[in-house]
Amino acid sequence: MSFESLGLAPALLRALAEHGYATPTPIQAEAIPLVMAGHDLLGGAQTGTGKTAAFCLPLLHRLAGHAPQRGTRSPKVLVLVPTRELAVQVHDNLRGYGRHMRVASCTIFGGVGMGPQVDALKRGVDVLIATPGRLIDHLEQGNARLDGVDVLVMDEADRMLDMGFLPAIKRILAKLPRQRQTLLFSATFEAQLKALALEFMRDPRQVQI
Ligand code: AMP
Repeated sequence: MSFESLGLAPALLRALAEHGYATPTPIQAEAIPLVMAGHDLLGGAQTGTGKTAAFCLPLLHRLAGHAPQRGTRSPKVLVLVPTRELAVQVHDNLRGYGRHMRVASCTIFGGVGMGPQVDALKRGVDVLIATPGRLIDHLEQGNARLDGVDVLVMDEADRMLDMGFLPAIKRILAKLPRQRQTLLFSATFEAQLKALALEFMRDPRQVQI
């Protein structure tokens, strides 16, 4: 199994070679074809398994060849994460893999001023990486919209629920188009999370590492 055989865009293959990635990790080998085929995905994966690239690569592949969005307030891809640290980490990964592409992305998290985030949203983004609480604040103020989201990713979903983000996540889900792809990654799948997946995902494929 190679990244070439997964059919990823040349710009991504080049970045992966520069990163020194020779072969996909098991979760990447299983998840990337499913995501590229448009399936919803439930990924049972701890950090350290390569799960970030497992969703970043097929999403960047989908954006390859598109001009970056300018001036629209709705991203095409929304990645929900529990913490500022994870937002920054996912964003760094995304930028690294997308270094030979033109993709507009930004992070939104609490504990810092709204101003720079508002400016970034105004410029327009393809990929928005956000913690749920701060995203709600921006939605309420009209700084962001979610009606153009094609793909929702929930990363470390169990941690988001542990942190009490379920009500915020439900409010966000209600604003997303029904016609979309949903990818959910979590180290554990307890009842509350299973219920969320059943309610908001469509015939999800499961990948367990
Ligand atoms: P993650 O589980 O997404 O936090 O990734 C764990 C680490 O593995 C990160 O430092 C990645 O840069 C690295 N990584 C991800 N995919 C690969 C791969 N296919 N080959 C080598 N390293 C990788």
